[in-house]
Amino acid sequence: MRPNQRVSSIPLSQTLALDARAKSMLAEGRDVINLSVGEPDFDSPAAVREAAKAVIDAGGVRYTPAAGTPSLRGAVAEHLTRSRATPFSPGQVTICHSAKHALSGALLTLTEPGDEVLLLLPAWVSYFEMVRFAGGSPVAVEPRADLGPDLDALLEAVTPRTRGIMLNSPCNPSGYVFTQREVAGLCELAREHDLWILSDEIYSRLVYDGAPYASPVSHGDDARARTVLVDGASKAFAMTGYRIGYLAASEEVASAVARLHSQLAGSPNAVGQHAFQAALVSEPDEVEVMAREFEARRTRLVGDLRALGLETPMPGGAFYVFSDVRPWADERGSDGFCEDLLEAEGVAAVPGSAFGMEGRVRFSYAASTDSLQAAVERLDRFLARRGRTGQFQESSPG
Ligand code: PMP
Ligand code: GLU
Repeated sequence: MRPNQRVSSIPLSQTLALDARAKSMLAEGRDVINLSVGEPDFDSPAAVREAAKAVIDAGGVRYTPAAGTPSLRGAVAEHLTRSRATPFSPGQVTICHSAKHALSGALLTLTEPGDEVLLLLPAWVSYFEMVRFAGGSPVAVEPRADLGPDLDALLEAVTPRTRGIMLNSPCNPSGYVFTQREVAGLCELAREHDLWILSDEIYSRLVYDGAPYASPVSHGDDARARTVLVDGASKAFAMTGYRIGYLAASEEVASAVARLHSQLAGSPNAVGQHAFQAALVSEPDEVEVMAREFEARRTRLVGDLRALGLETPMPGGAFYVFSDVRPWADERGSDGFCEDLLEAEGVAAVPGSAFGMEGRVRFSYAASTDSLQAAVERLDRFLARRGRTGQFQESSPG
């Protein structure tokens, strides 16, 4: 008995694999600072915990409809109507087991064999495998130097087989946040080439510097009609372990995904649905406190990394920085850099290769200020030992 070809070719998610490795090193008593996985280091808000306990104590944790409870679908529709400034109805919302599940459900629903799907580099690890598993071909497109979307390069990548484009703002791993203008350009490209848009908005509440959030669904009827929006509980409400996400699309697509999930997975976690609804309805203050703390950590960490000579763009959102380590990398590239950093200094980070961009490393700042400070000190030692090259002087942004 052995796994089939389609599954055998799937690697373990690198972010989750590295997190597991860092945690097992910690369990062995090793001194590891884990900046690998992207998971808020805050407790879920009190309203979330109370709602979860209340539903368990009430005794009736049962199956719900496959598309989610009507009340949660209603709460999501209201939240989207308010935050994306375009009306959504509960019938356009499907609750899923996570944002990951929503993304894979959307791709399995939209993709025909051989379809090409445009991914903007750097792209989150799982996009590549999700597109392939759905029968499509991921087509990765290089970004501009500041890691923003390169519309000319995207246009060049379009072929007669291109069917869709995946967007992710704020971006994991770069933290790049699209401007309204960029989203307008992306919607226009989708319209001209009749592409669907899968917009992963899981970090939409973690946007800094007072910047407005730009979603394709807010860019007119045409863009709204061709977009599947994905969001969830994990990042906004520090609810990663509850495993609840959702998608919003046309009723036709939303209900098709719900039918698929009704056969493959059944209804999403009932406790998680109640807890997420409490979060959406109460809009707990903890969310804003967490976002401001991430913003402050970001500014400090980028300053510290630049002071070490690591070229690091200032991210506009999420909780990652994406530094250029090329001056310090050997022939093993970012993989070798991360391997050596973990072994020599006990700092876990994710190589850029996982996101389709060799030469960079992602550090998550969803970690305490003390851990971040200690990680910077270890990195300083590590880089000094590896030796600084002439390139370092040139690439330092100051
Ligand atoms: N999209 C992106 C870009 C992410 O970083 C994550 C985090 N794992 C997800 C989707 C999935 O979130 P979850 O499955 O926890 O809802
Ligand atoms: N989004 C997180 C990350 O990129 C969680 C890990 C995962 O789901 O792959 O680290």
